[in-house]
This record gives sequence, C-alpha cells and structure tokens, in this order.
Amino acid sequence: MNSPVKSQPAQGVFINNRWHPSRSGRTLAMIAPAEGEPFAAIAAGNAEDVDLAVAAARKALEEGAWGKLAAFERGRLLTRLARLIDDHAEALARLEARDTGKPMKQARADIVAVSRYFEYYGGAADKVHGDTIPFLNGYLVNTLYEPLGVTAHIIPWNYPAQMFGRTVAPALAMGNATVIKPAEEACLVPLRLAELAAEAGFPEGAINVVPGLGEEAGAALSSHRGIDFVSFTGSPEVGTLIQTAAARNHIGCTLELGGKSPQIVFADADFDAATTSVAAAIVQNAGQTCSAGSRVLIERKVWDRFLADLKPKFEKIRAGTPEMDLDLGPVISAGQKSRIEAMLKRAEAAGAKVLATGAIAPGAPAGGFFVHPTIYHHVAPTSELACEEVFGPVLAAMPFDSEEEAVALANSTDYGLVAGVWSTDGARAIRVARKVRVGQVFVNGYGAGGGIELPFGGMKKSGHGREKGFEALYEFGALKTMIVRHN
Ligand code: NAP
Ligand code: MG
Repeated sequence: MNSPVKSQPAQGVFINNRWHPSRSGRTLAMIAPAEGEPFAAIAAGNAEDVDLAVAAARKALEEGAWGKLAAFERGRLLTRLARLIDDHAEALARLEARDTGKPMKQARADIVAVSRYFEYYGGAADKVHGDTIPFLNGYLVNTLYEPLGVTAHIIPWNYPAQMFGRTVAPALAMGNATVIKPAEEACLVPLRLAELAAEAGFPEGAINVVPGLGEEAGAALSSHRGIDFVSFTGSPEVGTLIQTAAARNHIGCTLELGGKSPQIVFADADFDAATTSVAAAIVQNAGQTCSAGSRVLIERKVWDRFLADLKPKFEKIRAGTPEMDLDLGPVISAGQKSRIEAMLKRAEAAGAKVLATGAIAPGAPAGGFFVHPTIYHHVAPTSELACEEVFGPVLAAMPFDSEEEAVALANSTDYGLVAGVWSTDGARAIRVARKVRVGQVFVNGYGAGGGIELPFGGMKKSGHGREKGFEALYEFGALKTMIVRHN
C-alpha cells in the first residue's frame, strides 16, 4: 500500500454523532492479520455505554429530529451517505484491507457494496406501501408499516463494511434508530461510517456504535430491555444466545449463521465456467464468507475429468497481503488460523486426502495468519469436514451417482444458506434448484455474498429472516392494521 493506515488512538464510542470515551476506561488492540501486529486500538465499550447508546436512539425516535423526518427525507440522507462513501472510497478500502487483511481489490469491492446498500435503501425508503383490504360493508381497512423502534445490530468481522450497509441501511430506511456492536476483530470501517453518516446530516441518535467485546458490549446490547429488534450475523453458538435473549425480551430477531453451501456439478455442465466459479467461491475472502461454496458435489462419471480441470486453476491461487492484491489474504486472527488447522488435522485423521493446494506468496510476512488454500477428497459425507463450517479456504469434494443422491447430499448438513447447480439440462437444473433447502440458489453461476437487490438468508442452522432486497425492509417494519368503521 502506498500510504498505510497509521496507528490511531482509540476513538471511543460513537453516540449522538460524537465520540465519547468508553465508561470502561479500557481499550483493545487491533491486529493487522497480514502482519500479525497491532496497528490501532479501539475502546472496549461496556454495558454503561450500551445504556447510553440505547437511550440516545430512543430519544432520537421519540423527541429528536430523526423520528420527525418523512420517508423521502430519510431516503435522501441514506443517498447522501452513499455519495460520501464514494468520495472516501479509497481511504475506506485501505482501512478495511488493513483491518481484515483482505486484498485491496476485495476491499474496494466491499466499499462499492456498502455505498450501493445506502443507495438502494435510500431509493426504497419512500416506496414501502401498505394495502387496502376489502372487509365488511361500512369499514375501511388499511395496513401501514411503522418503525420497530430501536434496532440492535451485531455484526461480524468478515465483511465489516458490507455488513454495516446490509443491516443498518434498511433499518434506517424504515425509520428505526440503530445501535451497532461491530466485531472486536475488525470494526474500524463501521466506526468511520458512523462518523461519515453524521457528516451526511443524519440527526443525532439515529446511528450509534459501541465497539467492544461480544460477551460484554454484545451481550449487554442483545439483552437490553430498551431495544425492539436484533439483527445478528455470526456463529450458530452466539446466534443461540442472541435468540434466547430476544425471547426473554419478547422481541424479534434475524439470524444469519453461515453455511456449508454446495455447488452441484452434473456431467453435462460447462466445465470451464464451473471450475472457475468453484475455485473462486471458496477462495473469496479466504473462505470467510457465510455463503462460501465450501462443498463441490460432482457426478461420479465426470469426477476425474472435472477435477483435472479444477486442479490447475486451484494450484494457481496465491495468498498475500492487501497490497500484494492476490487471490486471497490471511484469515482474521491467530485463533481462527489454529482453529482451522486443528480441524484439517482431524479431517486428515478421518481419511480426507489433499487433492490440490494453492500457495502463500513468497514475501508474505511470516507473522501473518495465512492458511494454504486446499481441496480435499475422500471426504466421508458424515465427517466434520463435510458437515461443519471451516470458515477458511478449504473445499470438500464429494461424488454422487444420481440426481436424487445429489439433492440428498446437498441437504445432508444442518445448514441451508446457498447452493449452486451446474447443468445444461434446464429442466433438471430447475428440479434440483427447487429441492435444495436453502434461501438462495444459483443455476450455472455462483455469487458468494453478492447482490444487494437479492433477498438472502438461511434455513435450519443457517438462521432465519431475510436480508437484502425489499424483504429486508419488511423485517425492519412493524405492520399495523387500521380498521375504521364509517357507517
Ligand atoms: P461470533 O463470536 O459469533 O461473532 C459475531 C459477533 O457477535 C461479533 O460482533 C461478536 O463480538 C459478537 N458476540 C460474541 N459473543 C457474543 C455474545 N455473548 N453476545 C452478543 N454478541 C456476541 O463469531 P466469531 O467467534 O467471530 O467466529 C466464529 C465462527 O463463526 C467462524 O469460524 C464462523 O464459522 C462463524 N462466523 C460466521 C459469520 C457469517 O457471516 N455467518 C461471520 C463470522 C463468523 P466480538 O467478536 O467482538 O467478541
Ligand atoms: Mg483486525
């Protein structure tokens, strides 16, 4: 990078459009994953900070300027923030790359996406209509969407910028006031986006960010009596805690908990397109993508031929620092690297064999959290590697004999987020696409994480609720039915 992000002091918690020191008085070091060295610090927000943030959000809704805005005025603010993000795109991309370790081209794409989220939901803010419902004579019945109130947003470290756009933009478009707890591992861009939102003219209290530890700031926020909804993306284990806390408060939540997404390749597939996509879908963001294509299911009669095409493409894959800008970066932390490596040791002990590996570029810092991109075969369908999320650049290849077996294998994990079907037999592709139990299915393509306009979310252990597209707006709205007797 030409001008790396310098060490910066902890800025505190962002409440009412201003920085405040955390009541905890503590800070947390931010580690650059590509070097394994600290490069910044953040405030360790605590329950007191969360109380203040929730109170600020409530006040913004009930007394402040935010709650008084018309839908089109909220939309304009979102659109203004999108343009401000564009103006600061390169600096934001550098910050995101340093914080997460991802290649600059991925970080730049993430900043384009966060701008697109604010643009899309800015345009949508004044287009969410209710209905008029025929009822008894002498009655007029209307439905209308109102804000839920104060919405809590607990976001992960894999796509801090994108996740901010994905969850906060639709909540704001619907008129909610927000409190965000970004991930301790990578949260500098969400903090900067809140600052830019203030510059764009968002009234105080509409967007509040409390960085800090999950078990401290995150737990305080998700169990807070003053919130009306929680949007969570992260691990199934924490998702269970979030849903339990939401149940205690009798509020709703959306959970996006990752997946073990299959790409199903039939003998008649376009191999060139499919092999390119299969390699890209597991390597993107070093495999740390909820919708990573982490399983490839291949029709047995073309198993050898397909893998012979895939292998050379995979062997060209290179991991490096953000500024090397190769195919992938490191994983997020030393802890994630050792978790992945332990999982791969168990997979090998259970009989999985390495089929192909990419490389770590010479010159990548020794202290960086790099993991070799790897494809495994001889993966038993019930083994951990076949069923559990690695959250690293690791692909499990498995054969199938029939269409029925392909569907059964695709549906055989506890997850159900995304699937891909590769076949030039249109009717078969549609049959299989209808039978996979997932929230999003691609035919002759695969877009891990893409598509602001496309409703997205899980079934089973992948979670519930829908994000992206217009569906997200309905998740963040409270539907009221108004029944008026006029005779
Ligand atoms: P995680 O613990 O679920 O973290 C997600 C978010 O929840 C972070 O902001 C985290 O804060 C917060 N959090 C943690 N404990 C909490 C609690 N008790 N109450 C409220 N919030 C809490 O995920 P992780 O440990 O970072 O990653 C572990 C695994 O989760 C990964 O290996 C991967 O399989 C999965 N994951 C999935 C996604 C996805 O996109 N679906 C994203 C990330 C991770 P802190 O990080 O600051 O503690
Ligand atoms: Mg970091």
